[in-house]
Amino acid sequence: MQLYNFLIAFLFCSFVVFFSCNRGPYAKTNKAYKKQSEKLAKQIQQAPLKDSVATGSWIGTTNFNLRKPNFVIIHHTAQNSCEQTLKTFTTAKSQVSAHYVICKDGVIHHMLNDYLRAWQAGVSKWGNNTDINSSSIGIEIDNNGFEPFTEQQINSLMTLLATLKKAYNIPTSNFIGHQDIAPGRKVDPNVYFPWQKLADSGFGIWWSDTTNVTVPPDFNALVALRIVGYDIKDSAAVIQSFKRKYEQIENKDVILNDADKKILFMLYRKYE
Ligand SMILES: [Zn+2]
Repeated sequence: MQLYNFLIAFLFCSFVVFFSCNRGPYAKTNKAYKKQSEKLAKQIQQAPLKDSVATGSWIGTTNFNLRKPNFVIIHHTAQNSCEQTLKTFTTAKSQVSAHYVICKDGVIHHMLNDYLRAWQAGVSKWGNNTDINSSSIGIEIDNNGFEPFTEQQINSLMTLLATLKKAYNIPTSNFIGHQDIAPGRKVDPNVYFPWQKLADSGFGIWWSDTTNVTVPPDFNALVALRIVGYDIKDSAAVIQSFKRKYEQIENKDVILNDADKKILFMLYRKYE
């Protein structure tokens, strides 16, 4: 009889745990994620192919795998809490998302399979790449845009970046910020973001002591910015983006002085 009571109690508890898990705040959106990913799986399983070009001859190759991310785009959320961001990314009408969200306490929420396309870059360009969403992983860090990042956030970010770099063999120079790929439209991550610390660990390109740097008289700063990767269509915006990232200065000054040019020259030489 005792065993019977125990079993009833066990089943009841399991029932409660099961349903409380499934009734969590994101139960409904997690279900929507599953449905959406199943729809995509069906789409790529179609044979004969129904993607873009119908040639009339379908012969499946035996040698392939998934395309993988080759860039990491770092953002600040420009929102007031992680909860607010999680809500935004699980609300269909917002039409925005990211693969990872890092909260102030260092907790990392993984919101989308690395192989799938998040909606985080928007209209953007880096080099000749105009569809950054298709080739990148988006990481959003909870920060309103005007405050420093927490130590826990940066620690979690560094671990995450190391994992991603190794998993997908992402080049050092392909760890960039949202403002790099959308100058004039985006300013994230803000001036407090520790790009130098990241670069010291192999995530992004940085500069060092410029004392002995001599900038050639014919140095073309805009061409150098383009070689680094920037879309130089709006030169004033690009210069602001450059200063925000590499000098951690937020102002309207769009002139590059000698010190700025030395930094740019040094960076450009790393991309040549
Ligand atoms: Zn952003």
